[in-house]
Amino acid sequence: MSGWASGARCRRSARRCRNSGSLTKKVHPRRLTSVSQFCRRVKTQLFQRQLQALRDLLSRDRRLAGINFLDGLPLPVGNFSRDPDARQGWGVGRVEKGYKLHALATQDRFLAGWSATPLNAHETHVAGMLIGQAVPVPPGSLFLADGNYDAHDLHKHVSSHGGWLWARPRGMAEHPVTLRQMGPARRALLEVWRQTPSPPPTGYDASLMPTPPPLPPDQPFRWPEGIRAAVSLTFDDARTCQIDRGGPILDSHGIKGTFYVTLNTMMRRLDNWRALATAGHEIGNHSTTHPCSGNFQWSRGSALENFTLHTMALDIDAASKSLNEIFGQRPRTFAYPCGQTFVGRGADQKSYVPLIADRFLVGRGFNNEAPNDPGFCDLAYAAGIDMDCKRLDAVMNHVRGAQETGTWLILAGHAVGDKAPQTVRADVLDAVCRFCADKSNGIWIDTVENIGAYISAARPVAAAAMNRR
Ligand SMILES: [Zn+2]
Repeated sequence: MSGWASGARCRRSARRCRNSGSLTKKVHPRRLTSVSQFCRRVKTQLFQRQLQALRDLLSRDRRLAGINFLDGLPLPVGNFSRDPDARQGWGVGRVEKGYKLHALATQDRFLAGWSATPLNAHETHVAGMLIGQAVPVPPGSLFLADGNYDAHDLHKHVSSHGGWLWARPRGMAEHPVTLRQMGPARRALLEVWRQTPSPPPTGYDASLMPTPPPLPPDQPFRWPEGIRAAVSLTFDDARTCQIDRGGPILDSHGIKGTFYVTLNTMMRRLDNWRALATAGHEIGNHSTTHPCSGNFQWSRGSALENFTLHTMALDIDAASKSLNEIFGQRPRTFAYPCGQTFVGRGADQKSYVPLIADRFLVGRGFNNEAPNDPGFCDLAYAAGIDMDCKRLDAVMNHVRGAQETGTWLILAGHAVGDKAPQTVRADVLDAVCRFCADKSNGIWIDTVENIGAYISAARPVAAAAMNRR
């Protein structure tokens, strides 16, 4: 008989339960262990492993969300405790001695940060530290907290990261000096609170939330001297003609391209792909199983609708591992198969862009319409514009548009050859390469990795923080 069957029988008969052996005693101990016995158990390896597993589970996703919560829980010890680290501070409605557990949780119920301190540590200081460790703060995100967190410095700190602290005001300051010193974020909070005489009802009501303080204005972005715009040529799925026709065209103009390879097709001509990489072209991650929506019949066996963030991460990481083994370096950029960025379906659908933000310098989309504004764009989802089957004037319209707007145009194609579906016309590719290689046109044409790295390093800190930790 299994232990659980034994437990079920116990529920049917309390008297038999009390006599049924050690399992029942473990599940329903009659009384708590003594402090000394508890301390001994805490020191055992089994307990420490369980504690570590719990910690890993709670902190596996430390990303802040659109709505986050700050709170603290007093952990008092007896007033006569000789614990040298315990301190006196504000506990549950009174001064107590002990510790406090501080937590920064997200609306997804993950812990973005936590800290255990003596009870006298100030909640707002610890909150500032936790937020500082958990950056980037999603622009305009909210931090909900009780009145203990309503401090000028914390408002300014959260605001400097682009977020918004929503705490019940501890007082409605009127004095102009106080109002000036508190900073714009708390002034706006007080204003909203004045206009909202009663506290918000239970639950989150977006109409009661104030407009977040504006982000710092964009600082001008500069391309290197003499450059007006950037272009990257990218090719997906490791089509053989990319080696036979695409690579030679790029090489004839001294241009480096980016190839987002699928592993199974790449293995057929591995030596050629190695030679391409050795020549300076970039090999990027395009996942292992190329998952797209199951609406593509060919993708039913690897449909995004059936993926979770976990299985997607495994798929992407496996590709990076294989590419690292083959080429001796991990890919730094990624192309979303079919340009699609979701996993799951319905209420469980999620974006997997954050997985890419964590792992890569750039994630390239597909079938986008506008090129990337280097001072603003999200490098984790950089626009990729389709060049398959396009005539020269259509592609050149995009190139000239990038020249005029100072943007980064990433062109994306599949096969290279003559007129055929999903094929970049070789004559068009050749002409675009010739135009971009002509220095008088002020275009920097290079791999996604090289241009992405320049943008990441050169643009304003505030904008860069939106993309990378
Ligand atoms: Zn693809």
